[in-house]
Amino acid sequence: MSVNQTNSTLDVITTELNNNLDEIISWRRYLHQHPELSFQEKETAKFIEEKLVSFGLEVKTNIGGNGLLGILKGSKPGKTIALRADFDALPIDDEKEVAYKSLNPGVMHACGHDGHTSALLGTAQTLSKFKEHIKGTVYFIFQPAEETPPGGAKFMIEEGVLDSVDYVFGAHLASEIPLGKVAVGEGYKMAAVDKFEIIIEGKGGHGARPHESNDPIVIGSDIVSALQKIVSRKIDPLKSAVVTLGVFQSGNAFNVIPDTARLEGTVRTFDSEIRKDVKDHIHSILKGITEGFQATYKIDYLLGYPALFNHKKETDIVRKLFQETFNEGAAVDLETSMGAEDFSYYLQEKPGTYFRVGAQNESESTHYPHHHPKFDFDERALLNIEKAFVKIVSHYLF
Ligand code: MN
Repeated sequence: MSVNQTNSTLDVITTELNNNLDEIISWRRYLHQHPELSFQEKETAKFIEEKLVSFGLEVKTNIGGNGLLGILKGSKPGKTIALRADFDALPIDDEKEVAYKSLNPGVMHACGHDGHTSALLGTAQTLSKFKEHIKGTVYFIFQPAEETPPGGAKFMIEEGVLDSVDYVFGAHLASEIPLGKVAVGEGYKMAAVDKFEIIIEGKGGHGARPHESNDPIVIGSDIVSALQKIVSRKIDPLKSAVVTLGVFQSGNAFNVIPDTARLEGTVRTFDSEIRKDVKDHIHSILKGITEGFQATYKIDYLLGYPALFNHKKETDIVRKLFQETFNEGAAVDLETSMGAEDFSYYLQEKPGTYFRVGAQNESESTHYPHHHPKFDFDERALLNIEKAFVKIVSHYLF
C-alpha cells in the first residue's frame, strides 16, 4: 500500500478506535471489578475468549495455563506480528472509592493489566474489521501470571506461542508518565530478578550459656553483613546489581538461643555474567561463614525473569512510528529500572520492544505508583495503547 493509502486507512481505523473507546473502558471496568490472581485467571480468560470469538478471530485457549492466542490472518501472506497483554491481578485490597472498585476482597488490578487486556481486545476488535488491508498475521497474545515467577510468558513460549512470530511488542501503562507520552528505549531496561531463601542451622540453647550452643542469629548477622559487600566489593562498579534481604526470622524468646535462622532476599542484575557472579558469591559467603562457626546451611536459589532487553532496530522503528502517531515530543526515553517484567522472555526469543504508555493526568488519583492499593489511571491511555499497536501493525503489515 502506498504511504497515502496507509495513512488514510489509519485515519479510518483511528476514528473506529475513538468511537469504541467507551466500550473498551467498560471492559476495563468489568475486569477491574473482577480481578483474579496469577495462575487462577479462569473467568478473565473466559471473558477474553468470548470477545475474541465475537470478533471472528481464530482462538486458542489454555496455552501454558490460562493463556490465549487470538489469530488474525490478513488477506495476503506476510510476516507475523505478536502483540501481548497480561491479565493477572495482585493480592492487594482495593482502597479506591470508585464505582468500578474490585468486588473480590484482597485482590486488585493494581498494575494496569486490566487496561492492557481491554486495550489489546480493542485493537483486535478494530483490526479484525480491516483484514483486507493486512498482509500477514497478527497474533494477539493474552498472557496470565505476569506477577508471579516463573511467569506466564515462559509457559506460553514453551507451548510454542512464538513459533511462527517475526516480531513481538508489549505495552505497559505507566502512572509515572503523563498521558500523551510514550516511553521507548533500547537495550537492558528492566532487571533479571532472582530469589533466595537461606536456612542457617545452628544449635539452640540457654541464652546464659552461649558456648554450649551455636547461635544462628549471630551467624546470620555476619551473613547479612557479608552479603551486602558483594555489590560494593565484588562487582565492577560500572555494572549494576542489587542484593536485598527482605526477611530475617529467628527465635521467639529473649533468653533462648534458637536452632535456626531464615533469610530471604532478592538479587537484581542486567548482565548475565554478573547474575551468575552474585549467585556464586552468595554461595561462597554462606559456605565460608557457616564453616567458620561449625554451622550448616541450606539455600534455595530461584532464577526468576531474565533481564528485559529491547532490540535496537525495532525500538528505533517504534520510536519513529510513535512520533508520527502522537506528536514529535511524545516519545520520551524509557527509564531503566531494577523492576522486572516477564515480557523479557519474549524478547529473548524474538526481536521487538517493550514500551510504557503514559496514563497520569492532573488528578491525584492517577499519581499512585503501580502496586499501590489506590492505583488508578487515565483511561484515555487505553486509546493510546491501541493507536500504538495499530501503528506498529500498519508499519509491518499494511
Ligand atoms: Mn505490570
